[in-house]
Amino acid sequence: TVEEDWRKASVEERLTHALVKGIVDHIEADTEEARLKLGRPLAVIEGPLMAGMNVVGDLFGSGKMFLPQVVKSARVMKKAVAHLLPYMEAEKLASGGQAQAKILMATVKGDVHDIGKNIVGVVLGCNNYEVVDLGVMVKCRKNQTPSIDEMVHVARELEREDFKVPLLIGGATTSRIHTAVKIAPGYGQPVIHVADASRAVGVVGSLKSATLRKEFVETNRRDQEKARVAHQQPGTQKLLSLEEARGRKPVFDWTDIPRPSFTGVRTWSPVALDEIVPYIDWTPFFHVWELRGTYPRIFDLEEVGERARELFNDAQTLLKKIVNEKLLTARAVYGFFPANSAGDDIELYADNSRKSELATIHTLRQQISKPQGESNLALADFIAPRDAGKDFLGMFAVTAGLNIESLVERFEREHDDYNAIMTKALADRLAEALAELLHKRARGDWGFGEAESLTADDLLHERYRGIRPAPGYPALPDHTEKQTIFNLLDAERNAGVRLTETMAMIPAASVSGLYFGHPESRYFAVGKIARDQVCDYQQRKGLDLQSVERWLGPNLNYTP
Ligand code: SAH
Repeated sequence: TVEEDWRKASVEERLTHALVKGIVDHIEADTEEARLKLGRPLAVIEGPLMAGMNVVGDLFGSGKMFLPQVVKSARVMKKAVAHLLPYMEAEKLASGGQAQAKILMATVKGDVHDIGKNIVGVVLGCNNYEVVDLGVMVKCRKNQTPSIDEMVHVARELEREDFKVPLLIGGATTSRIHTAVKIAPGYGQPVIHVADASRAVGVVGSLKSATLRKEFVETNRRDQEKARVAHQQPGTQKLLSLEEARGRKPVFDWTDIPRPSFTGVRTWSPVALDEIVPYIDWTPFFHVWELRGTYPRIFDLEEVGERARELFNDAQTLLKKIVNEKLLTARAVYGFFPANSAGDDIELYADNSRKSELATIHTLRQQISKPQGESNLALADFIAPRDAGKDFLGMFAVTAGLNIESLVERFEREHDDYNAIMTKALADRLAEALAELLHKRARGDWGFGEAESLTADDLLHERYRGIRPAPGYPALPDHTEKQTIFNLLDAERNAGVRLTETMAMIPAASVSGLYFGHPESRYFAVGKIARDQVCDYQQRKGLDLQSVERWLGPNLNYTP
């Protein structure tokens, strides 16, 4: 077979082949053979290993190789280097001077997600950059902010401390516009938004290049200036006053309000992993690995298809191991509460007599001016007002990330970033799938879901009655509402999910939100809101204006 043929080549060729193909099976033996043959460990690194990594870098840079393969190649490289390291130290040759440049990476305080950053680290590492990773939740101050604002602050701090290095911004919550408008103005050095991991090497390469740098930085600066000017164009969005917006709320019929079979909190803990697996939505999994397409049609795409299949098979192998050996623990808690809307708030009561109030969920109303006949929505609209009947609100918190650290650490110890990243991606998938599964159970408890007969595909497209909006998402942008959910569900005790002071959930592979049962309930975006609503909201929440403005930063239609 082809596999055996490559084993007959010279050791240098075998090493290069193993790197390009991402094969770890013989890497230690081959590396040792090369060390003995070439005489010095550094000669192995600078010879066949670098040659292999250069091929990988070129193929990836020209779009002929995909991210999962690069991460697999990096695993081969790391294992080879790990084998050589003791000999290098013996020769006192360890590290020093050869790296192209040093890259400092960190996930800002407020965020615990690091899959994307790990990928960037691996990709840069493969390209011979020395990567220093400070980890997640890296802070430089005590205030509470969503992570996106933290980036603005970090840039200002770099300026204050007189740093002279370029700043690269990336991640799911970042954007080209936000980088240009909010982050770049605070720092005198180049600030570059890197849209995805495959661009990191190109960007860093341009910044380091004596010939490319000037033009690259200049273009970036000009583009950002344009983005800022475009952003400041007034009149693109004229907002209604809060009063007008409230006058345009939807009118619903409340004759038939379903009553859940229980009120209060129920736990499902632990949830058997094999019960969750059928509910996994695989499409976002491929996006983590920068393979574009929709599952399962992605397998039929030219080029990407084959890589997607390989990645999927690897994922299945690890998933099976996780399920069989119970390497992750999943837990869930959910509940229903007697509820009525009161304006844009939702009041929750201790029992169905509705005499004593337990807590309030605060929602925000769309203020954008819409065409005649369209409503200005707030989530509270989907709950009956007091005079219309006895309604209920559900809420939930789930995780599939308990015990993940030991599994990830085990892979990292084996220099296996591929499976470390895979583990996190799978835990995220399981958490989302558990949210789907639990939602199905909740609709059953609510009654209207009992008659449902939906396929897995129907579920993924949410073709059922009701929604489960999550805090931090467009219909419920205020992350601090998680606090109410977590308190009422006692989510830390009941599901093992903890809320940080920046409203991040730990473990990262967790999902929480509200359940609405009204047949007309749907997802929407609150969008930009005006000062009048922020003041009203701040009083309803009993918080100071400044912190409300900080939490709602991206939604403000004005500069505080
Ligand atoms: N099947 C997907 C589900 C996650 S994304 C996956 O496995 O990744 C869809 C979820 O995001 C919804 O169930 C809801 O919880 C949240 N969501 C989407 N749009 C929203 C919006 N506009 N407002 C609030 N939550 C929203």
